[in-house]
Amino acid sequence: MYRILDQTWRTLPTLARHYKFGADDEGRVNYRAVRGPEYMRALRQQVLSHGVTILDHSPVLELLARSDGSIGGARGQRRQDGGRAYRIEAGAVVLAAGGTSFLSHLLGSWTNTGNGYLMAPEAGAEMSGVEFTAAYTIAPAHSTMTRSMAYAFATYYDADGHELDLPFGPDQTIGLARALQRGPVYCSLHLLPDDIKARLHTISPNVPLVFDRWGIDPYRDRFEVTLHNDGTIRGIGGVRVHDVDGTTSVPGLFVAGDNASREKVAGAISGGGNVNSAWALSSGVFAGRTAACLSRGVKRSKSRLRPLGRVGREPRSGAQTVDLAALRDGVRAEMHPFDKNLFRTRQGLAASIRVLEGLWAELADHADTGTIASRETAALLATARWSVATAATRNESRGLHRREDFPSQDSGFATRLLSGGLDKVWVAADGPSANAETGQLEAAS
Ligand SMILES: Cc1cc2nc3c(=O)[nH]c(=O)nc-3n(C[C@H](O)[C@H](O)[C@H](O)COP(=O)(O)OP(=O)(O)OC[C@H]3O[C@@H](n4cnc5c(N)ncnc54)[C@H](O)[C@@H]3O)c2cc1C
Repeated sequence: MYRILDQTWRTLPTLARHYKFGADDEGRVNYRAVRGPEYMRALRQQVLSHGVTILDHSPVLELLARSDGSIGGARGQRRQDGGRAYRIEAGAVVLAAGGTSFLSHLLGSWTNTGNGYLMAPEAGAEMSGVEFTAAYTIAPAHSTMTRSMAYAFATYYDADGHELDLPFGPDQTIGLARALQRGPVYCSLHLLPDDIKARLHTISPNVPLVFDRWGIDPYRDRFEVTLHNDGTIRGIGGVRVHDVDGTTSVPGLFVAGDNASREKVAGAISGGGNVNSAWALSSGVFAGRTAACLSRGVKRSKSRLRPLGRVGREPRSGAQTVDLAALRDGVRAEMHPFDKNLFRTRQGLAASIRVLEGLWAELADHADTGTIASRETAALLATARWSVATAATRNESRGLHRREDFPSQDSGFATRLLSGGLDKVWVAADGPSANAETGQLEAAS
């Protein structure tokens, strides 16, 4: 945690050439608050100023390995160039393809299909903490506007107009989800302090936009709300990192940001609101630096690089047309409903495992196109399978992981749970664990 804060504190001011930082109440330059789109534009300028080539809209489809198993590049498709294939040979690779909300309507997460999660285990790396995906964020119903700060002052009502007892705090989401299971929930922001109302347009310009478009005054009118699943984006699981420098178990493969497990800085709870962006920035700096150092010493490989992506490209049995949209809907149906992913039970998780195994078999057995869509579907399915299998192993409640049948925290589970496996999912404790059933976990059992 210390190294993350330290690196973030040192790095943010270096963006001043490209980002106009505001001032705090004392008139000092305020490096703590950045607005996403402008921040990304500044990062892009920073990268370009160092002579980096950016391939926009060019998703990586798979990693490339040297004969010794180390990672030596990646290949993908250039979407804006007729899908032309590209291939990069590199001394090392940093995976930074973000997390996944399993295609919920979380703002800005539609391209976050967990592709980096699929590629790392294909290369031999492990996942960690993927049971901590049950993060949900409030939004006005029928919108993707999951910026949540203003809801710290919200008042909630049921469909009959009765005020709900949902005090702001860590358990508010749970209470809200239970209320939503009973029926529609309405919200009023009339208690938002005047100074925040006055600044909301500059702090989070897109929040009032939804209300403006709908002609709703959120400080006077009640509006319907919902919860969107955040998966690993505001949750924490991802590729296991061995050190703060982003090293994975695979030589030449590094990982940063949401693509990496954030457990070592956020524990079992969401890193949303501060830790996440600090981790994205500093883990990127650390991983990039270490990967660059390694690259300098790597001799150009004379051996052929081996592509590692199989699922969605090389069918296990006969090639057939696969309804990818139906498979993606299947993932959403297991990973979004509160009764499956937020209020977990042994029976519910076992049922999800069976469904997801069936969907995986359909894809792995028959898909042969190797398209972006088929690889994204494979990534969503793989991540959902690891997440559900790990949740089924953690027989306790801790942080974002809530088991209705094991409501207490159990010190025997005070350990990280690793997972992986493509055709056969496994879950294992990272270090000694009194309770986790380690080793191979039959996915369908
Ligand atoms: C609505 C919302 C509000 C948030 N607010 C906060 C906040 O206030 N504070 C905070 O700390 N955190 C916040 N977060 C979390 C924070 O945004 C993330 O932790 C952070 O963006 C992670 O950065 P990243 O670069 O790792 O991933 P991303 O920002 O997700 O970037 C990953 C990129 O990889 C691309 N990609 C995906 N697949 C491939 C592929 N195969 N090949 C190439 N590229 C690929 C994606 O398109 C994407 O552009 C918020 C998240 C959301 C959704």
